[in-house]
Amino acid sequence: MKPDSAAILGQNPIFEVVKRLEANDLKIIAMKMIHLTQTQAEGFYAVHRERPFFGGLTDFMSSGPAVVMVLEGENAIARYRDLMGATNYKEAAEGTIRRDFATDIEKNVVHGSDAPETAAFEIGYFFNAFEINAR
Ligand code: ATP
Ligand code: MG
Repeated sequence: MKPDSAAILGQNPIFEVVKRLEANDLKIIAMKMIHLTQTQAEGFYAVHRERPFFGGLTDFMSSGPAVVMVLEGENAIARYRDLMGATNYKEAAEGTIRRDFATDIEKNVVHGSDAPETAAFEIGYFFNAFEINAR
């Protein structure tokens, strides 16, 4: 267990993630808890199909529940990616979500879209228009 996150690791880190989003003006405009099947995880990560970690990643992502959200805010994609930290938590900056909570490059706690086009696909994968409270 990492000493700087020991106090909160007893809880689901989702609460701490939500707190950090709110504190950084990333507005949650849709949110739900899901449990992906392996096939659904494979569809979500289809761009990584050829990568060596694809099997492990989709196994892990279908092994338990996940909370999916739509975030809104100025420059939201880049600002959220800054909050997440580098893919490999060992290289992530101090104070980032992955640095504080990840235990493995594959089990790195959070995902974030990397461009408006991928965000559009990923939002549509999990939410319909009625579930998103966009202004
Ligand atoms: P994400 O897309 O999940 O927000 P990212 O954009 O930082 O993360 P990607 O390169 O898109 O990183 O990889 C997607 C996910 O695949 C990572 O979050 C991680 O869980 C896993 N992954 C990436 N690289 C590796 C690796 N070298 N070994 C194991 N798993 C990896
Ligand atoms: Mg990515």
